[in-house]
Amino acid sequence: MVRRADVIRTCVGCRNRASASELLRVVANPETPATGVRLVPDPARKLPGRGAHVHPAPECLEQARRRRAFKRALRLSSEPDLTAVADFLA
Ligand SMILES: [Zn+2]
Repeated sequence: MVRRADVIRTCVGCRNRASASELLRVVANPETPATGVRLVPDPARKLPGRGAHVHPAPECLEQARRRRAFKRALRLSSEPDLTAVADFLA
């Protein structure tokens, strides 16, 4: 059995590949349709749904935001709010 920590993912910010355990998983929280989609950090990797991976670094989050990478990776219809993820990294 392959441990989840050994899974290789691509950072949506810098596009470098890394072990999933080195990346922060983020998922879209669809429970606030009035305010749009918010991304929430999932450090325990337990939340359901499609996730995207990013290095837990402000530079990678910023790169992903500029390139609208989360919207693409999570197949969202609009640009998500990254505040919760940014707060988590701060
Ligand atoms: Zn990165």
